[in-house]
Amino acid sequence: MNFKELKLNRPILRAIAEQGYDTPTLVQEKAIPVILEKHDLIASAQTGTGKTAAFALPILQQLFDKQDAPKKGKKIRALIVSPTRELALQIEENFKVYSTYTNLRTTVVFGGASIEPQKDILRKGVDILVATPGRLLDLHKQDIVNLDYIETFVLDEADLMLDMGFIDDVKKIERLCPSEKQTLLFSATMPYKVEHLANSILTDPKKVFV
Ligand code: AMP
Repeated sequence: MNFKELKLNRPILRAIAEQGYDTPTLVQEKAIPVILEKHDLIASAQTGTGKTAAFALPILQQLFDKQDAPKKGKKIRALIVSPTRELALQIEENFKVYSTYTNLRTTVVFGGASIEPQKDILRKGVDILVATPGRLLDLHKQDIVNLDYIETFVLDEADLMLDMGFIDDVKKIERLCPSEKQTLLFSATMPYKVEHLANSILTDPKKVFV
């Protein structure tokens, strides 16, 4: 299996080739086709398995393919929620690298840092937003973030998210997005509470366990 067989387009293939990625990892091989088919997904994958690219590449592909749609502009179309600032920054960096040869824009917002520069970037418009839950809700309350145009919602490290007490925030964020969207849930472990959350926010999900 190579990345071309996963039906990724040229700008994305070029960016990942430059990163030296040769073959998809197992989670990429399994998750990318499911995501491109627009299914909801629940995936168990640890950090280090290539799980970030497993959702970032098909999300970029979908946004890239529909770039000329009327929604282009200041509408955030993909939202990735991550429990910590460090993880959020890593995800943002990955999206930026993989989208080098597209004009899709990614930014990251997190708490514990000045909010004004984050607002400035958001006002200019981004396609993909990576966020920690509290700061995201804060920016939404201040009318800086509009989640009405989200097409894909990713919950990364769901187990850690619940351990850190973000369950209510996550549910609130999910409800602020349109009900017709694609939702992807990634978790290193699958305790009952993660399955329970998955049951409440995913619609007929495909499962990928690596
Ligand atoms: P992650 O599990 O998303 O934290 O990724 C772990 C590391 O693997 C990151 O440094 C990625 O850049 C790298 N990586 C992801 N996919 C591939 C691949 N298909 N081939 C080689 N390296 C990869």
